[in-house]
This record gives sequence, C-alpha cells and structure tokens, in this order.
Amino acid sequence: MGSVSNMYLVDASQDVLRYAYKGYLSIKSGTERIAVAKEDIFSKYKELLQEPSNGCVAYIHIPFCQYRCSFCGFSGSKITKEEGGAYVDALIKEIKLISQYAYVKETPMRAIYLGGGTPSAIEPEYLKLLCESFHKYFNPANDCEITLEGRIHDFEGKRGKDILEAGFNRLSIGVQTFNTKIRRSLGRVSEGEKAAEILGNLASYNKAAIIIDLIYGLPAQSVEIFLEDLKTAERAGVDGLDTYQLKVFESSPLKKSILAGATPDAAKISEQGSFYKAAYDHLIHNHWHQLSLNHYARTSRERNIYNPWVKRKAGCLAIGAGAGGSINGWSYYRAPVAQRYICNIEAGNFSPDSLTAPNSCGTLANKITEQMEKGYLNIQEIFAINEDFKAKLAPYVENWANAKLIEIDGKYMNLTTAGKFWGVNLIRAVTDILTGEK
Ligand code: SF4
Repeated sequence: MGSVSNMYLVDASQDVLRYAYKGYLSIKSGTERIAVAKEDIFSKYKELLQEPSNGCVAYIHIPFCQYRCSFCGFSGSKITKEEGGAYVDALIKEIKLISQYAYVKETPMRAIYLGGGTPSAIEPEYLKLLCESFHKYFNPANDCEITLEGRIHDFEGKRGKDILEAGFNRLSIGVQTFNTKIRRSLGRVSEGEKAAEILGNLASYNKAAIIIDLIYGLPAQSVEIFLEDLKTAERAGVDGLDTYQLKVFESSPLKKSILAGATPDAAKISEQGSFYKAAYDHLIHNHWHQLSLNHYARTSRERNIYNPWVKRKAGCLAIGAGAGGSINGWSYYRAPVAQRYICNIEAGNFSPDSLTAPNSCGTLANKITEQMEKGYLNIQEIFAINEDFKAKLAPYVENWANAKLIEIDGKYMNLTTAGKFWGVNLIRAVTDILTGEK
C-alpha cells in the first residue's frame, strides 16, 4: 500500500470522532478533465444543448451581496435596485436565448436554484419576473422545486410575503445562529429573536418549504448553544435545516479578528465532531429525517431535490455570471463578472468561459458520492463493476469497521455517526482508491 493510500487509514485506538483525520479533504471527481479550446467553447456548448435529456435542474447565480459577514469568503459587490433589475433582465434574456434548444425546452426540469451571493437582495418585483420566465421558457416538472437562497433580514415583514408571492416554493435562508451575541460578532444585523420571528411569519404563510443553514464551531459557541439553535428552529416551524461546520478562511475578517484577539478562537476540527453528534442525536430523537450528511427534514414539504442532483452531476443548466453547470458529463463555468455578462447577453453571446470533457471515472465517482452523501455505499453494486474493487477496498473497509466509522450490513457499507462527520474524507478515500486517483 503506497503512502498516498495510507492517508485514508485511521488509528482505531483513538477517539475517531475527534481524531480520525487531521482535517477535511476536498472531494475529487475522477481523472483530470480535458478543457475545450477557447475558440470552440460556444459551438460545443450549443451542440450539447441540442439534445433533450430525461431530467435536469438549473442553477442561477446572483453575484451580489449587500453585506459582509465576517466568516464568509464571498467577494462579490453590492448592488442598487436598478442594477439588480438590469441583471435580472439579462438573466431572462439568457433563459430566452437558450430556450430555442431542445435540452432547455424539452427536458423536464426537476429543480431550479437561485443562489449567490444573496439572491434575496434582489427586489421582489424582479424576482417575480424571473420566476415567470421559468414557466415561459423552461419545461418545469409539475413538482419542480424552485429555491431562493437568502439572508433572514431580507424576509422581514411585507418583503418576505412579496418574495413568496413571486413564485418560489422553497426558501433557503442563512441564519447561522440564533444567539444574538454570536450573530453580532459575525456581522449579522438582526437579533436572534427577530430572526426566529421572521421565520415563524414565513412558515405561517404556508406557501413554501422554509429551510435554514446553521453553523457549528463558531467562536464562543458551546454545544449547548448550538442545541438551543436547533430547538429554536423547530419552534419557528422550519421544514428543514443544514448543519455546517465553521471553516475559517485565511483571508476572512473573522480570521483577522481571531488573530488580533478581538474574537475568541473557533472550535478546532477535533472539537467539531461533538457538535455534529449532538445535533444528529437531538434531531433523530425528535423524528427529523437525515436526507444527507448535513441536511435534515422535519416535514414532508422539504424534498431537497436540487443539492443531491447536482452532487451526482446529473445535468444542470447554469445561468448568469459566476454560474457553473454540466450537461451529459461536460462541465462548464462562466466568470462572475456581472457587467461583462450583461454586455455579452445583450449581444446574443451566452457562451460559458470554460468547458471541460467528461472524465472516464466520472460515473463511478458520482455514484459513490451520491450514495455516501446519504450515509451508505452499496458495495455489492460497486464490486460488480470491476473484479479488482473488492480487494482494493478490503484493507480500508476492515480498518474503518474496526474504528467504527462504518458498519457492514449485508450488501451495504453504512456510515456511523462518526463516519458521517468524516463523510467527506471517506467519499474522497473510496473514490481515490477505486479510481486510482492520487
Ligand atoms: S454569508 Fe451570505 S450574506 Fe453573508 S457575506 Fe456571505 S454571501 Fe453575503
């Protein structure tokens, strides 16, 4: 076994929730991809759009944010109401331009996700026009999930109602924590009580799934404070939530503040597992359903279609500046420069800035990610793909089972709670071991 492979083995005598790995590894998706030459990108993209598929999603990027949360690495600019209107106008034009192709007008669209940045910063009247364009130019399935990502402050009072009236059936709202003191230290404007009140109002309209993001491992946040956040979310009536561990980016204001001693240190990765486990135990005990490693649903209104779809790279149209997507395994991306994007669209140029060919291991890597994100791997199915796979994975399976990161149950390799906390590393490990990636 080579040294690169050894990095996936763990010391089973340690407390693996704390010390299985030194940090998180990024997930890779198979072998290197071949980039299409710049001059051929537009024609190849149009060729890909010619063929319909049996399902896709769309991601629409809003590269603006009115705020500057101290933990966030987002570097987009602020916008005025007029700039927001001009950008939405360009988005609708792009949607109209691509709607002449069969992939867009014939493929049943299962989900549309408006992400950023902060899409909720766009005025509701423009969001309504955008939603109308989805029904006019796409082919949304009857149960198409239409999500708007946003910041709690933007949903206060009538504005929240107007955003719901625009036509979204799912709101994904970054609350991060309800603890007012910690919120203030992160640059969040509203008090925790106010955030809970706004969520309660949104839920009471009974128009859409209300989903929130919560972060654990924040400076001055104990496990008890985090559990209190979960209880507040439940009382507010949210339909689902994500629990993310804090990552302190090197260039973030939070990192600078911690280094200057103005903010207490954030939880180390060896301490974050206790937050993950406490949340898992609490939510499962209270009959929430775990839909993926970090995502839970409380009601049947939360279906969580978009995120797993994108993780298995099953076809995603990308619209707007800074959006990335994939069609039939080809991945593409457009730079997040709004003004250039608007000018290009005005001129009828909806070309991505980069386009890469499918890689040979992509399908296997996507299958591994899709299943392990849900907490299991069907090893019988995986081993049937290649006769060498069982022997390749065997020493790791034995080690992880000894360390109680996984349990084998017939044809399934199931992740334990500690295994789910380190799920990203285990996905990376299985993918690398089976695809031969370094
Ligand atoms: S977390 Fe969201 S609202 Fe805060 S700066 Fe980042 S993109 Fe903007």
